Amino acid sequence: MRTLKNHPELCAVNTATFGFQAPLTKVIDEVARAGFGAIAPWRREIEGQDVKALSKQIRDAGLKVTGYCRSEYFTGSTKIARKAAMKANAKALDGAAELNAAYFALVVGTGRNLNLVRQQVEDGVAELLEHAREVGVKLAVEPLHPVYAADRACINTIAQALALCQRIEGKVKKPMLGLLVDCYHVWWDPALESSIAAAGNRILGFHVSDWLMPVRDVLNDRGMMGDGIIDLPYIRELVEKAGYNSFVEVEIFSSENWWKRPMDETCRVMRERLFTRV
Ligand code: ZN
Repeated sequence: MRTLKNHPELCAVNTATFGFQAPLTKVIDEVARAGFGAIAPWRREIEGQDVKALSKQIRDAGLKVTGYCRSEYFTGSTKIARKAAMKANAKALDGAAELNAAYFALVVGTGRNLNLVRQQVEDGVAELLEHAREVGVKLAVEPLHPVYAADRACINTIAQALALCQRIEGKVKKPMLGLLVDCYHVWWDPALESSIAAAGNRILGFHVSDWLMPVRDVLNDRGMMGDGIIDLPYIRELVEKAGYNSFVEVEIFSSENWWKRPMDETCRVMRERLFTRV
């Protein structure tokens, strides 16, 4: 397993961690100043802005872009809604290409009939993959904790995401379609070890935060690494054993705590926890 201590350049920061309190130009400076190696911006910070200039600022700051966050749901309740989502996703992929993002993150959506919406997801991802190939950006499906099966994602385990990738893309040496391992979403999975091992080179990104006890809000009360119950070093060891050697990305949705703190303070604590608790 790699050593993170004193290696912030192996780590990335997902901009959601700051709660969008400042424009991306400032966030880029802050993340670079703290010595991190990469950043994961959101569409709300990019769309309608000068993407070329932002991309240049990121590059000039010495940062890479891990993921571009995130897709529209593939599961709109009407054909028109699903078509509009596909269009928005294709446009977002162009933005991801401009940013040189390693992948475009897919949060797939859900619905009442899970069998039906899973098929919609599969059809949508397969269609988007063609555009992804054209612009040279990988797609990363993010399985979400089953607590989100009702409102955000009908893909809830690594094994499920991997099976989807394999059905769509088949066995390939260099996959364009893969998945994200976010510890917050997968720590509970009884098949964690075998699923991560099987995912191998389809693991495109690795997200860390912590599951607080008690958790007040499953969406926006995520914890700083070390403040909750997830065995983060253990999961990192599993993904690195499976061959993952890219960035360890911090992504913390925390409306009542971290989003209220100044960015430099959050950066300082993230560094310390990445060095010692991940
Ligand atoms: Zn995530």
